Amino acid sequence: MTVDLSPWLDAVPPAAADAIAAARHALVACHENPDADTLGAALGVEAIVRHHGGKATLISTDPVPPLYAFLEGMDRFVADPDDNGDYDLLVVCDCGSLERLGGVLERHRALFERLPRVLVDHHASNTDGGPRDWVDPTAAATCELVALLARRLSVPLDAGNGALAAALMAGIVMDTSTFAHPNSTPRTLAVSAALVASGAPLSEISRRLYRSKPDAQLRLFGRVLDRLEVSDGGKVIHSSLSDADLAATGTLSSHSEGLIDLLAQSETAEVAILFKEDGPSATRVSVRTKPGGVDATVLTGVFGGGGHARAAGATIAAPLPEARTRFLAEAERQADAVSRAATA
Ligand code: AMP
Ligand code: MN
Repeated sequence: MTVDLSPWLDAVPPAAADAIAAARHALVACHENPDADTLGAALGVEAIVRHHGGKATLISTDPVPPLYAFLEGMDRFVADPDDNGDYDLLVVCDCGSLERLGGVLERHRALFERLPRVLVDHHASNTDGGPRDWVDPTAAATCELVALLARRLSVPLDAGNGALAAALMAGIVMDTSTFAHPNSTPRTLAVSAALVASGAPLSEISRRLYRSKPDAQLRLFGRVLDRLEVSDGGKVIHSSLSDADLAATGTLSSHSEGLIDLLAQSETAEVAILFKEDGPSATRVSVRTKPGGVDATVLTGVFGGGGHARAAGATIAAPLPEARTRFLAEAERQADAVSRAATA
C-alpha cells in the first residue's frame, strides 16, 4: 500500500532538493546532545544522497545515546570530519543555527564555513537563512521534512528494508511524543502513514523511545522528581540534576531525556524547568510551557537558547546554583505576565 504525499511535495524547495541530490560526498551533521529527530534526519539525508549515487559522512559531536541504538545506522556517526575530506556539501539537520552543532564546530570551523550548506530545520528560533535552507516551523519534526525531500527526489521510503522509514518515524515520534503534542498536523500524520506503510514499526519505536527504560534511569528519575520545587505560587515547577546524581545511579547524562516531560505534567505550572549540571561551570536548561502561556523560545532566548514555543532549551555558562537563580527570576517574571481566564 502506498500513501499519496503529492499534496505536500510542492512545498519542498528546489534549491535544497537539487543540492542534496547533486552531492557526491555530503557532510551531514546533527545538533549536540543528539535526539532521534536530528539523528533520524541525518540518516534520511544519507539515504537520499546514496540513492542519487553519492556518499555521506555522518557527524554527531556527542556520542549517540544508547536509547537510539536499536535504529539501524546509529553506529555510523563520528565526532569529527576530516579537514582534508572531499566533501562538496554540508547538510545540517534540526539546528536553529550552526552553533547548535556544538564542539565539532569549534574544532573544524573553517571546514564548516567553507562548504556550501543546506540547513533542514523546524525550529521557530532558527537564526540562519541561507539560499538553500529549508526551515519550516510548522513541521512537527525535521524528519517530516526529510521524508518529503526523499519523496520529492524519488527515493522509495521503504529503502533499506524499512531502515529509512524507521529512522524518519523515530524523529517524528520523538518530537511529537507519539502524536500527543499540538505540533502534529494532517501533514505529519500523512507522512507518518506513508512511513508505516513503508515498514516503520511505529508502536515498537514509541515503546522504545517513551515506555522502556533501564532501571538505573528510573532511579535517576525518582531522585530528581523527589526534589522538585515550585515557586511563584505554583506557576513555575523546577528540579535539578547534578553530576553526582548520575554517578550515584550509574546513568549517563542522556538518561535525563524524558524527565522534563514528567515535570511538565504539573497541573498548575505555566513553566516547567530542569537544570542539568554540565561540568563545574555550565548548566543546561530544559523548558516546557503550557499552551497559550509563556513562549519557551522567548524565555530561553534571554539566555541565548531557543527551540519551540512549548519546548526549548539553553546552555548557561555558570555553575548550576547561579544559573538556576538567574533563570528562575526570568521564568517567574514571564509566568507572572500570563493571564488566564478564571475557570468556574
Ligand atoms: P530539550 O529540552 O533538550 O528536549 O530540548 C527542547 C527543544 O529545544 C529541542 O527542540 C532542542 O533542539 C531545543 N534546544 C535545546 N537546547 C537548546 C539550545 N541550547 N539552543 C537552541 N535550542 C535548544
Ligand atoms: Mn526536532
